[in-house]
Amino acid sequence: MQKNKAQEAAKETKPDNVAPKDLANPGWQFTGTGELASFPPPEKWDDWVEYDAREWPQKVEKHYQLVPTICFNCEAACGLLAYVDKATLEIRKFEGNPAHPGSRGRNCAKGPATLNQVYDPERILYPLKRKGPRGGGQWERTTWDEVLDTFAAKIRQAIIEDRKTEVIYHVGRPGADGYIDRVLQAWGVDGHNSHTNVCSASARLGYALWQGADRPSPDHANARFLLLLSAHLETGHYFNPHAQRIIEAKMRGAKIAVIDTRLSNTASMADYWLSSWPGSEAAVLLAMANVILNENLFDREYVRRWVNWEDFLREEHPDQPQTFDNFIEITKQIYKDFTPEFAEKESGVAASKIVEVAREAGRAGSAFSSHVWRNAAAGNLGGWQVARCLEFLNVLTGSIGTVGGVMPNSWNKFVAAPYIKPSPQNVWNEILYPKEYPLAHHEMSFLMAHFLKEGRGKIAAYFTRVYNPVWTNPDGSTWIEVLSDETKVELHGALTPVWSETAYFADYILPMGVGSERHDLMSQETQSGSWIGFRQPVMRVLREKRGEKFDYTYQANPGEVWEEDEFWIELSWRIDPDGSLGIRKYFESPYRPGEKLRIEEYYQWIFENSIPGLPETAAKEGLTPLEYMRKYAAFAIESSGYAKHEKEIPQKDLAETTIDPKTHLIHKTSGGSSQVVGVEIDGKAVTGFATPSRKLEFYSKTMKEWGWPEYTLPGYIHSHVHPSKIDKSKGEFCLLPTFRLPTLIHTRSGNAKWLYEISNRNPVWLHTSDAQRLGVETGDNVRVSTAIGHFIGKVWVTEGIHPGVAGCSHHLGRWRLDDNNGVDRWASALVDLKHEDSKWQMRHLKGIEPFKSEDPESQRVWWTDPGVHQNMTFPVQPDPVSGMHCWHQKVTVEKARPEDKYGDVFVDTDKAHAVYKEWLAQTRPAPGPNGLRRPLWLGRAVKPSAAAYQIKE
Ligand code: SF4
Repeated sequence: MQKNKAQEAAKETKPDNVAPKDLANPGWQFTGTGELASFPPPEKWDDWVEYDAREWPQKVEKHYQLVPTICFNCEAACGLLAYVDKATLEIRKFEGNPAHPGSRGRNCAKGPATLNQVYDPERILYPLKRKGPRGGGQWERTTWDEVLDTFAAKIRQAIIEDRKTEVIYHVGRPGADGYIDRVLQAWGVDGHNSHTNVCSASARLGYALWQGADRPSPDHANARFLLLLSAHLETGHYFNPHAQRIIEAKMRGAKIAVIDTRLSNTASMADYWLSSWPGSEAAVLLAMANVILNENLFDREYVRRWVNWEDFLREEHPDQPQTFDNFIEITKQIYKDFTPEFAEKESGVAASKIVEVAREAGRAGSAFSSHVWRNAAAGNLGGWQVARCLEFLNVLTGSIGTVGGVMPNSWNKFVAAPYIKPSPQNVWNEILYPKEYPLAHHEMSFLMAHFLKEGRGKIAAYFTRVYNPVWTNPDGSTWIEVLSDETKVELHGALTPVWSETAYFADYILPMGVGSERHDLMSQETQSGSWIGFRQPVMRVLREKRGEKFDYTYQANPGEVWEEDEFWIELSWRIDPDGSLGIRKYFESPYRPGEKLRIEEYYQWIFENSIPGLPETAAKEGLTPLEYMRKYAAFAIESSGYAKHEKEIPQKDLAETTIDPKTHLIHKTSGGSSQVVGVEIDGKAVTGFATPSRKLEFYSKTMKEWGWPEYTLPGYIHSHVHPSKIDKSKGEFCLLPTFRLPTLIHTRSGNAKWLYEISNRNPVWLHTSDAQRLGVETGDNVRVSTAIGHFIGKVWVTEGIHPGVAGCSHHLGRWRLDDNNGVDRWASALVDLKHEDSKWQMRHLKGIEPFKSEDPESQRVWWTDPGVHQNMTFPVQPDPVSGMHCWHQKVTVEKARPEDKYGDVFVDTDKAHAVYKEWLAQTRPAPGPNGLRRPLWLGRAVKPSAAAYQIKE
C-alpha cells in the first residue's frame, strides 16, 4: 500500500523535528555584536539612532522612537514600524516590522508610502456636510456631534420600526476581523455589504465546494512546484508575504508555472508562462488532471481516503461496483475528452507545455502549491470552476494540508473572540442576498444600485467605508443615479481617509484614520501557521508613552480624523442612550460595568482572554498582554498548521456519538439536536474538512440540490468571452481589465504621491499582430466599445498579451469634478460629467499638473496622464451561480474617431439595466431544500440565525 502523504506530512511537521521555512527564517535575526543589523532590535526601539542623511558628511544623530503598527493598503496586514523623530514628533518614515510573522520585516512599495497618506496635503481633516443638492459639490464643515446625532436618530428609528434591512454598511477594504460584525449584530440589522463580488466571489465558491473554507492558504515557501493563476509576485492577494515565500522556494530550486493571458511581472519570473485565452483556464487545468490520472501520477491513497467518491458512486452510479478502482475508471472516462490537444485548441497554449506542467505538478506530489484569487476566476462566466479545477490538481496530488501544499484558510487564520458577542440577527436582507443567488459568495453588492432602481427597497442609513462604487464597480453611472436619489438612499455617510468619486455623492464625508491612525486586529492566512497583527494609532501610542492621556484617538490624530472603532462605540451609545434597546450593553466596558467602552479596553480583553499563548509570552517579558501587543504589534499563535483534517477526535468526545454506516459521518446528539463532529476513515475518527461529507468534495450534492445538477463535478464552462463568441473580422476583442499594478490598490492609493509617480497610466495593451491589423501604433488613441458605451484609451503595442485580447488595468483613470475638492490632484483628471436622460458623457478638462500645496513636492509633479476610467463602460455581468461580476468584456476596438478625445467615456444606463436583466434571467433562484434561502453549511458574511434562512411564503 502506498504511504498516506498527509499522515506523513503531519508526522514530519511536528514542531520538534522539522523546521519549515517560515520557522527557520523568521526574518528578525539581529547580529547582536556587529555594526550592521538587518533591523533595529526591539530593545532599541525607544531610542533608535541614525545619522541625518541631509547633514552628510557631518555625523549628526537623529533619535527616533519606533512604533509598530500594520499596513492598511491591502488585506495582507504586513507589519510596519513608524520612525517618529523624537525632537519634532514627526513621522519620518515607515519600514518593515521584523517581529511580524507574516511579513517578517518586509513590505511592498505601498507600505512605506503610508507616510504620503499621513502627510497628504489633499486629505480631509474635518467632517463635511453637503450644502445644496447631492453631487452639487458644495460642502461645509460640521461637527462630529452633529454627524453622530443625525445617524443615530435615523438608525434608531429604523430599528424601532423594525426596518432592519434599511441600515447598510458597505465596505471596500475591511482591514479588521470581526469588529463591525459585532456592531451590526448588536444593532440586530442585516446590513453588512462588501466588495467581494467584484473581487473574489468565484474563487471563493470554487474553493468552498471542495473544502468548506472559501479561501486557500498555500504553503509556497516549502513547495517544490507552484502553479499560479494570480500575479502573486507583484500584486495578488497577500502580495508581499506570498512574494517573499515564493522567491524563497525558487531560490531552493522550486519551479513556478503561471497561467496568465498577459505577461505579468510574475509570469516574467516563472519557469513556464502559459498565455491562455481568457476563460479557457479550466480546460487547461482539466487536461492537466487528465495527464495526472492517466500517467498514474496521482496520490491514490490520499484520494481514496479523502475524496467523497463513495457519495459520488452512490448518488450517480448506484448500479455500478462501489469500489475505489471503479471510481478512478469512471473519473478517467469523465475527463477523457480533456486532452492536452483539446486544451490547446481552447486556450492557445501548446499541448506539450500543458503536459510538461502537469507532470511537474504530479512529481511535486504533496509539495505542490497553487493559487487563484481574482484573475481568471474573476473575469469569466463560470470562473468558479477555474478555482475548482485548480484545487482538483491539489486533491489528485495529495497536496491539501501538507508541507508545501495548500491548506484551507481557516487553518491559518485566527479570528479572536471579543467579549460578549451578540446573537445572530433574525432578519435576512434581500438587497444583499437576493433569492436569485442562493450560492453567491457573498453579498450581491454591485447589483445594489439596480435592485434599488427597480424598486426592491430603499436604504434609510447607508455607510460607504473605504468603498468607492462609483469608480470601482462596473456601471458607475447607475450608481451616481441611485446615490443622487434621496428616496432610494435617504442618508449617506462616506467613511473614508481620502476623497473618492463616491464621497462626492454623499451627504457627509467622514474622515477616518489611515493605517497609522487607528486600531484594528487582523490575521491572514499568509503561510502555514497563524498570527495576529495589531494596527495601532502611532501618535496616540507614542504620546501616551510620554505620559499624555487621550480619551479618543482623534485627539492625537491630525485635524479631527476619527478611528472607526470609536465612531461605532459612540454611535451605538447614541442609538440606545438608556440601554432599553439592548444595544448599549455591547459597548460598555468589561472592566467598569455600565460605563462606556474605551477602545484599549476592547483589545485588552481580547489579548487577555482570546489569544492562546499571548498572556504567557507577555509575562515572560514582564508585560501585560496589551503592553506586549503595544510593543510588538504582532504575535505568532501557531508556527505551522498542517494536516488538521487528520486530527483524531479524542475518545472522551466520542461518547454519545453514532456513525452513519453509509456516509461514515460521526453524529453527536445533545439537547435534542444532532450535529456532525467528524468522519470515520479506516476505523479512525477524525475531524475532516468543513464540508457536508467532511471530505474533499469532488462531487457536490449541494449543486444538485440547489438547481445546478450539471455542475456537480469540476468542469469547464464556456465563458461569455469564449472565442466562438468573438468575431475578429468585426474588430471584436476580449477586453481583460482585471490586472493590478503592483504599486496601486484600486481606489486607495490616490493619496500617495510616491506610488503615483511610479504608476500613473493604463494604456490599452494590444498584441503586435492586432495593432498591425488595426493600423495603430503605441500612443495612438483607440475607441473601445462595450455593450453600453465606450472609452478612449491609448495603445501600447506589446508581445506580452495573447493575440485577440486587449488589456487595460482598471487601477487608473481617477477623476474629480471640482478643481479644489475631490480625488487628489496628483492622481486624477479634472473632468466634465454631463448627462441627458440615461446618456452619460465624461470628458477630461485637464490631466495631472503641478499644483501649490503645503507639500512643496506638489509643484514638482511631472506626470500628466491620469489614465482612463473604463469600469464605467462595463455593464454588470453577474455569474448566475457564484454571483461574481464577470469582468472580461466583449468589445470592439477601432481607431479613435475625429470627435474622440483621450479619456472620453460614454455610457447609456438604460442599456446597462437591460444587460443586468439578461444576466439576471440566467439564475435559478431559491428556495432550495426545506424552503431555505441558502445552504446552511456555506459561509455567509455576518451569518444570521438559522430561522432567517427560511423563506416564509
Ligand atoms: S503587501 Fe504591501 S500593501 Fe499589502 S499590507 Fe503588505 S506592505 Fe501593505
